[in-house]
Amino acid sequence: MRTGKARLVPPPKTFPALDDFRLLAVVLVVANHTRSDEGQLLWLLTVLRRAAVPYFLMSSGYFLGRDQWRSLGRFLKKTALLYGAGVLLYLPLNGYAGRLGPDFLRQALFDGSFYHLWYLPALLLGAPAAWLLSRLGQKPALCIAGVLYLIGLGGDSYYGLLPQGLTCFYDGVFRVFTYTRNGLFYVPLFLLLGAAGITLSRRVSLAGVLISLPLLVSEALLLHGAGVQRHDSMYLCFPPLMTFLFSLLLNVNQGQRQKLRRLAAPVYLLHPWCIVLVRRGAEALGLTALLVENTFVHFLAVLALSLLLSRLLLQAPPPRPCPTGRAWVELDRAALRQNVEQLSSLLPEGCALMPAMKANAYGHGAVLAARELNRLGVRAFCVAAASEGAELRRHGVRGEILVLGYTHPEEVPLLRRYRLTQTAVGADHARQLNACGKKLRVHLKIDTGMHRLGIPAEQKAEIARMFRLKNLEIRGIFTHLSACETRGGAEEAFTRAQAAAFREVLCDLHKQGYPCGRTHLLSSYGLLNYPELGGAYARVGIALYGVLSRRPESDLGLRPVLSVKARVALVRELRPGEAAGYGLENTAEQSRNIAVLTIGYADGLPRSLSCGRGRVLLRGKEAPVVGRICMDQTLVDVTEIPGVRSGDAAVIIGRSGQREISVYDWAEASKTITNEVLSRLGPRLVRVMV
Ligand SMILES: *Cc1c(COP(=O)(O)O)cnc(C)c1O
Repeated sequence: MRTGKARLVPPPKTFPALDDFRLLAVVLVVANHTRSDEGQLLWLLTVLRRAAVPYFLMSSGYFLGRDQWRSLGRFLKKTALLYGAGVLLYLPLNGYAGRLGPDFLRQALFDGSFYHLWYLPALLLGAPAAWLLSRLGQKPALCIAGVLYLIGLGGDSYYGLLPQGLTCFYDGVFRVFTYTRNGLFYVPLFLLLGAAGITLSRRVSLAGVLISLPLLVSEALLLHGAGVQRHDSMYLCFPPLMTFLFSLLLNVNQGQRQKLRRLAAPVYLLHPWCIVLVRRGAEALGLTALLVENTFVHFLAVLALSLLLSRLLLQAPPPRPCPTGRAWVELDRAALRQNVEQLSSLLPEGCALMPAMKANAYGHGAVLAARELNRLGVRAFCVAAASEGAELRRHGVRGEILVLGYTHPEEVPLLRRYRLTQTAVGADHARQLNACGKKLRVHLKIDTGMHRLGIPAEQKAEIARMFRLKNLEIRGIFTHLSACETRGGAEEAFTRAQAAAFREVLCDLHKQGYPCGRTHLLSSYGLLNYPELGGAYARVGIALYGVLSRRPESDLGLRPVLSVKARVALVRELRPGEAAGYGLENTAEQSRNIAVLTIGYADGLPRSLSCGRGRVLLRGKEAPVVGRICMDQTLVDVTEIPGVRSGDAAVIIGRSGQREISVYDWAEASKTITNEVLSRLGPRLVRVMV
């Protein structure tokens, strides 16, 4: 179960909101360490600054939890190295302060060798403890870690409230750790909360933060006022506050920013040295009043110096591939917007678009397309597989996500974690999902004649029984039309019969008092040909991308969203009698110029278009394919196109000058429909929005 689940969740690429907050948290730590004790006017701020460390712990826990703690070894090694570097870096300051006495080893092992370093040994001890707990299962682990946290509270903010008998327990603890935040009482809970990756809706998260923050402040003020605190790292309100805050950050994880996040660790490591340097520098320059005694200027000076040194210390960021360096897919933002507007204008009353993002949004790039659709106000999506829905959610896509296809019951945790709505594709499937014992949002699929997925429409009693499965929260019911590509004739009669059978199912349920939720049946052709059939959603796929499965006779006001482009690797001359590519298929009769393109069948180019059956555009002119299309490269004839050079962009699908090669051309030449050509565009193509 564990390993199976992990494979469904490939490591993420970017978590900009988490990264940004990490740097902010480091800034809070610096602020905490540069405040002066006399100027404790804003003592309260210190409490808030204390949120930084739980945040670091939760984000570490989040990433550890994502791969079921398999990277724990690597994580501990990295932490140990960082701590080792920290111990060495601060030895001179320890020596200077006369702290290298007999107690130094205990301090270095349990407390941190310098004041700010406490976090690292605490992590080295707390992370294995959290991992051990996590093996008991999520809930028991959180409970035990919660109890440990409560015990820790007694040695921290609540110390003065303890009954006499208990203090000797804490005295024992304090012989090893200076505070209860070191190690076992504080770290495991936040790591495990992070690993649980609790994602509540944006509204609930925000409300949670807004409620728990004043509670935390009141708790801190009360305890501080009563003078019972031994230390002020741990409060009752921190775990709920951090859970809501983290969930909020997970919700706003959008975009890609890599530059700042690498600064967090070196700033954390270096800032106490910078405090010393700023003080000494200020003394030497006679600027102590400004640079040290003014707490805010002092903070800014230390922060600026820390950032500067960190920036110098880091090597240049690793070079990143150029998105349009080899072969890529370009999405036309304006075309997508136009299609959304055009299709929205066709929607029947009360119906919303539910774009189909399956198969990487028909090859367009699901994350890129869905985010853009979110921006255009689209709030519902459908996908074929749970993993596709999870991918969208992980990249911050909002709104309802309906999984149209079969999902194995073992993937129920994935559905729940990413708030996906699952289709019950048949009665047995529904019962198996129900048997998982966890509440799940579902739509029921009804088969009205396609004979693919769905409970047969005539099995009325069986359909009604689905409403008694107590773990299934039935949010909607839908069917799929299988012959709606045209109006008229036998196909129209069949489509109308499908719609009637569907309506009958809904009527029947209604009579028995079962709420049907959102009901829907239209896909692209359904919306174009039979909008009067209505429904709460139109599940449009191919039309949204600006094409139909086959070349339409009339203009529908839709514009193709996608182009495919690749680079010319080189241009060479082929002399008479020479052949190009695998096999000796295309032997030149006269001298020809051949361009080698950086795209092949592994990128989705149908190999059946080899040897002149396919063509591409270069400098606004057509260049036919020469020889057999290879896995990673394709040869084209550019004899008639002067001036083609290495590095030029060739248009595989799309416009160049006055010419266009459409996805219809590709589909027709390879005897298939556009849906297949598009959805086979490979993962190696980089998707860019223009
Ligand atoms: C793929 C799919 C759609 C979208 O179909 P298009 O013809 O591309 O609009 C709608 N509903 C279901 C069930 C699907 O599988």
